[in-house]
Amino acid sequence: MKFKDDCIFCKIANKRIPAEIIEETDGFIVIKDMNPVAPIHLLIISKSHYDSVLDVGCKGGADKSGGRELFGILGSLADKFNVADKGFRTVINTKEDGGQTVNHLHIHFMAGRGFGWPPG
Ligand code: AMP
Ligand code: ZN
Repeated sequence: MKFKDDCIFCKIANKRIPAEIIEETDGFIVIKDMNPVAPIHLLIISKSHYDSVLDVGCKGGADKSGGRELFGILGSLADKFNVADKGFRTVINTKEDGGQTVNHLHIHFMAGRGFGWPPG
């Protein structure tokens, strides 16, 4: 478990600063995105600090159960928000070309409208 003192998502995921918690597992916390781009826009944030998804696979220390836990969260959120039928979009922005702005692993869960493809 890694904690970075100057990381906002470390503080949120480890409850050092308050946030409305939508769901929580051993490894992740789910909150609402403060700048939603869809009627439902959640962030699934790892409790441990990883700079990006690359950090999980490449630099060791990753809990191998995390992937399964994450897929479980997606199903659970789909049920909770009644979007299992219509569907949803998940996004992991990674580094500069991916448009990542917060350098702590998080997965966007967006639903409640249709999304285009390819993304802009
Ligand atoms: P990304 O561009 O993939 O790194 O996404 C970062 C996301 O985090 C953006 O959609 C922001 O709106 C969101 N965000 C940043 N700070 C907070 C915060 N304190 N609480 C909730 N959402 C946040
Ligand atoms: Zn962090």
